[in-house]
Amino acid sequence: MLTRVPRELLEKAVSLHGHLGPFLVIGLKMGLKAWNTVGRPVACEVTAPGEKPYLCCVDGLKTVLDGSISVKNGESLSAWFRSASGSQLVLRVRASIVEKYAVKYAGTPWEGCEQDAFEVADASDEELFEPELLKRL
Ligand SMILES: [Zn+2]
Repeated sequence: MLTRVPRELLEKAVSLHGHLGPFLVIGLKMGLKAWNTVGRPVACEVTAPGEKPYLCCVDGLKTVLDGSISVKNGESLSAWFRSASGSQLVLRVRASIVEKYAVKYAGTPWEGCEQDAFEVADASDEELFEPELLKRL
C-alpha cells in the first residue's frame, strides 16, 4: 500500500520545517497512515534519536496532526498514536530505512536531500514500516 502525501500538505510541511528532507516525509507518512488506519489521532508519542535528521519527522507529524506530540529519546524511530475513538496504532520505521537516509543525510548536498525526500514519498508502507506493527492494538 502506498500512502500518498498531497502536494499542498508537503508544501505546508516544508514551510513549517524550513527544508525538504526524507525524515520530514517519513513524519508526514506516519501521521497520514495513522489517520487512515485508526481515524483522527488525538495523541501521539514519537520515539527517536534526539538529533537531526531523525527529529525532522516530528515537524512532519505536526503538519498532519492537531493533537499534541510528545517526543521520547530512543534508538529506533517509531510513533504511537491514539485516535478520537480510542484505537491505538504503533508504526515503527524499518531500521534499514532509518540508517539509509541518516547516513545519506550526513554527506548529502541540499538537492540530494530533496531527492531522498521524493524517494520516500514514492516508497510503499511495506518498504518503510515494520510489518508486524502495521496493525491496530
Ligand atoms: Zn529537517
